[in-house]
Amino acid sequence: MPYDEDGDAIDLAVGVIVELHGDEPALHDRAVGRPGAFARLEAVIAKLRAAGRLPALACEASIRADNLDALPRIVGVAKRLGAERCTFIAPVTEAAQMAPLDATIPAVREALTRCRELDIDGHVRHQPACLLGGDAEALEATRDASDPPAFACLFASRCELSERCAGLPTAYIHRFGWEPHRLQPVLRDSPWPRDDGSPEAFAAWLALLGPAASRVTAVELDRLAARYRVDLGRGRSLVLELTPRTQDRPALARSRSFDIRYTKATGLGGPGLARVVETIAAAIVARDDGSLDLDPRRVLPPLPPA
Ligand code: SF4
Repeated sequence: MPYDEDGDAIDLAVGVIVELHGDEPALHDRAVGRPGAFARLEAVIAKLRAAGRLPALACEASIRADNLDALPRIVGVAKRLGAERCTFIAPVTEAAQMAPLDATIPAVREALTRCRELDIDGHVRHQPACLLGGDAEALEATRDASDPPAFACLFASRCELSERCAGLPTAYIHRFGWEPHRLQPVLRDSPWPRDDGSPEAFAAWLALLGPAASRVTAVELDRLAARYRVDLGRGRSLVLELTPRTQDRPALARSRSFDIRYTKATGLGGPGLARVVETIAAAIVARDDGSLDLDPRRVLPPLPPA
């Protein structure tokens, strides 16, 4: 059984994916934190090739603040190693490694151009679709929410591309902001699949509240939240808000798919308010069978520390 530069067994039946973060040893070794890693990688690939046992080879390069200039040259190294595919992956949690979009996008697009020149299948992850221009087809789907981290975009509910683009990693937003002046949403003229405007879709969201549904005067639904305006009569009202379920963000209650909160309580207070919202929350917890969901990839980032 052959092994890669980390000592992990290589499954030759399915091909090999290797990390390649630099076009020369110092850059790659620094990125992986192991002196000599670049040389060992080359040696393993050469050994497999010499033995006639090199299966399909793919390279994954992180898009780091310190390797942007090198990305097109990394494609050249990938070609020399025999790679058929190259994927450029922006970091999603490691803020120190991140570079702003005005630096990463030109570098990534140049690297994708280089892929085409060298007949390598080029892909990119975690960059905004709206900034990739003719390279948007190379964008791979962001992993789903069961695999944190989270993503967000100010334009998510209005952008036609947001079915395939999750927006910006929230760690990026903390460091560089929402970039509203840079993003270029393609204005949506078709409904979001979970809000197709049909009476059935609306009824399902309403039924979640049980008896309190008869008190709902309006429902707003977007990718981030479902909001119900609840009129309890005699000038008493509140807005109930459901967002994708998390483990760690404050919530009044959590159902199978949602965190439950309320806002804008009017004419209610103290025990009366608690009784109303707890009754509605209990109804939602009892009825939420997981069949309704919001877009779980997207959560609003928590406020940065003061
Ligand atoms: S505007 Fe936002 S959702 Fe639309 S493509 Fe750009 S980053 Fe993605």
